[in-house]
Amino acid sequence: MLTKLKRIVKEVNQTPVLDDALSGVAKSLKEAIKVDSVSIYLANYEKQHFTLRATEGLAKSAIGNVSIGFSEGLIGLIGQREEPINISNAQTHPRFKHYPEVQEEQYHAFLGAPIIHQRKVLGVLTLQQQRKRLFSQDEEAFLVTLAMQLAVEIVNAEARGRFSLSDDHPEQNEIKSVKGVPGSSGLAAGVGVVQNLLVNLRNHVPKRSGDRETQIQNYRSAVMQTRQQVEVLSQRIQGEVPDDVQAIFTLYHHLLDANSLGREVEQKITLGWDAATSLKMVVENYITQFQGMSDAYMRERAVDVEDLSNRILANLLNLDTSRLTREELPDKCILVAEELTATMLAEFPKGKLCGLISIRGSSNSHAAIMARALGVPAVMGVTGVPLSLLDNKDILLDGYTGGIIVSPNQTIEREFQQLIQEEKLLSDKILSQDDLPAITKDNCLLSLLVNAGLSADIENTYSSYADGVGLFRTEIPFMMRQRFPTEKEQVELYRAMLSAEPDKPFTMRTLDVGGDKPLPYFPMTEENPFLGWRGIRLTLDHPEVFLVQIRAMLRASIGLQNLQIMLPMITSVSEVLEAKRLISQAFFEVQEEAKVQDGTLYHPKIGVMLEVPAVIYQLPQLAKIVDFFSVGSNDLTQYLLAVDRNNARVSELYDSYHPAVLAALYNIAQQANDLNVPITLCGELAGEPGGTILLMAMGYRKLSMNSHSLLKIKWVARSANLNDAKALLNEVLAMSDPKDVRERVNLYLESIGLGGLIRAGI
Ligand code: PEP
Ligand code: MG
Repeated sequence: MLTKLKRIVKEVNQTPVLDDALSGVAKSLKEAIKVDSVSIYLANYEKQHFTLRATEGLAKSAIGNVSIGFSEGLIGLIGQREEPINISNAQTHPRFKHYPEVQEEQYHAFLGAPIIHQRKVLGVLTLQQQRKRLFSQDEEAFLVTLAMQLAVEIVNAEARGRFSLSDDHPEQNEIKSVKGVPGSSGLAAGVGVVQNLLVNLRNHVPKRSGDRETQIQNYRSAVMQTRQQVEVLSQRIQGEVPDDVQAIFTLYHHLLDANSLGREVEQKITLGWDAATSLKMVVENYITQFQGMSDAYMRERAVDVEDLSNRILANLLNLDTSRLTREELPDKCILVAEELTATMLAEFPKGKLCGLISIRGSSNSHAAIMARALGVPAVMGVTGVPLSLLDNKDILLDGYTGGIIVSPNQTIEREFQQLIQEEKLLSDKILSQDDLPAITKDNCLLSLLVNAGLSADIENTYSSYADGVGLFRTEIPFMMRQRFPTEKEQVELYRAMLSAEPDKPFTMRTLDVGGDKPLPYFPMTEENPFLGWRGIRLTLDHPEVFLVQIRAMLRASIGLQNLQIMLPMITSVSEVLEAKRLISQAFFEVQEEAKVQDGTLYHPKIGVMLEVPAVIYQLPQLAKIVDFFSVGSNDLTQYLLAVDRNNARVSELYDSYHPAVLAALYNIAQQANDLNVPITLCGELAGEPGGTILLMAMGYRKLSMNSHSLLKIKWVARSANLNDAKALLNEVLAMSDPKDVRERVNLYLESIGLGGLIRAGI
């Protein structure tokens, strides 16, 4: 059965047009389990009905023409109950409704299963048989399993523009309003610029073409053009890259060979697909094969195949890939990407970037953190939207609520511009207070620090308002390179950072790669990267990398007294002891050098990040061996709640206002204060108005945040009152639902005149 199931699902996956895929499923399923009829209905939420989209057994003429209301008939009942229905004689069931067009008079036995994705009913899959009988448990289980897998395929198909759940005719469909997850607060109105869309096969909507000769000619000349481009690229990098990188170009040449990809693509063209679709079909098949290989090196090659094919596609579609040059971009761009990456953001001209949309990821992925650091409104996890429908369209984006409106009408546009105007006024007001201390109305002074490492320009502008750097994410410079930076390169970078404000503490975190921050030149494939080889675990296993970094930090700090070193992902006391041993080793080496140069090397303070829940129970032991603690609330939330911070599917569960997270944060603050260990909180919660209020009430006095939030948080502190915040904390600690906590905290913010910072727009 499993083989049959896999075969059916694979077929769906590889058939480019959803309706063809569904009719393939109906056919294969009918054969696989020997029933008289198989039908698939999909939901249309705008019209509140299910439409017959494929059948083997009912009248084919009814496909696309029969619609069953959400509360009608057996199909509606399955949708309402969200579970299978198995009946030996459907016609006698009280909910049976006769639809003459489908011609089902001869069928009696009926088994239907809902197709559900993330609690939403997408459709119904049914089996029917002439003979009156109950379907077996095995048949029922098979249908339910298939329906679950179909759900994923349908959602993927929707995301790739193969159809839409809100309209039966995709070509007439224009999405208007979409909901994602708030990634970075703020409002933006701009033109959607889909990164890589022009050269991404994944987003190509399949098309048929009758003109086979022209399609083949087009394909061949696109390959020729690509071959020349690859040749130029290959020559350009010759001698500059290791042999294995150069070998990729040899692979490209091989794939471009007429007997390789070409033959298969041309076969598909003769079946009536246009050249781009044929390429897509062949290449997706290759990619699946490469990804399924046991050899890690070969698995990685899937990326190369995709890259090469995207180049062919660009040539095939005669796309001017230079469109994304700085001059030609619209003045206000909303960058849209399947998966927004730190490098994509780094490359995009800042002056033109006013908003970000990422199809994948959530508010806690590093791309979202970077968006906040840049102060650019962002919406993440916008699943179910074809990228092509966002390209070159006017878009309104609300980073507070995660709402997006595409091609708005004039009235909405005008109202939204009004909101943007109000937001600007508020931010001007906040800016006017930049030189005042972050002190509450009842004199509680907060120390505000910045998180650095994500975007140098902005940090430089704002860091003068901060009391120092509470977190410098050193991994970002590592991620931007093609190899590990040399010790010299690191010294230069760290020296520039440390000497910018020599009188303020500067906390450098040792390399925290792994998890969602892979190094391009240090590939690792792990089943569970967030629970894997990450942060200190990786660097302690590679003392050569750790020592180079520590030595660079120390060298950079000769003559300066502001360096603090922070260790990420600490789980056990032994890791700290081992790291301290290596730091001491490096310290003595660099101290000798410093003496020779007549300089002084001061011993840096050493602290640990509290982000793995295990450390909450080891604070007294850790207190004896470190100089400070810093809570990484992003990871602490992820690990306490067992929710992947990047996974949009569970992003609703990731909430730092969860009572367990609040209790842990409170407990940490109390312990640290009792143990007399200085404590900072450097996760995203520190830069949230509501977070600041609760953290302050818990006893945190040092908060480190992205530079863009700094003045806003200062404004929050100056508007608040510690005693009221403590009363609020007591109230919310007794609550059990994070939503109630958020609502209550927002109410407090409104009451002190900070409603503008949490405002919901669209
Ligand atoms: C954290 O986990 O809260 C943190 C500040 O570190 P990062 O987001 O870089 O993992
Ligand atoms: Mg972390």
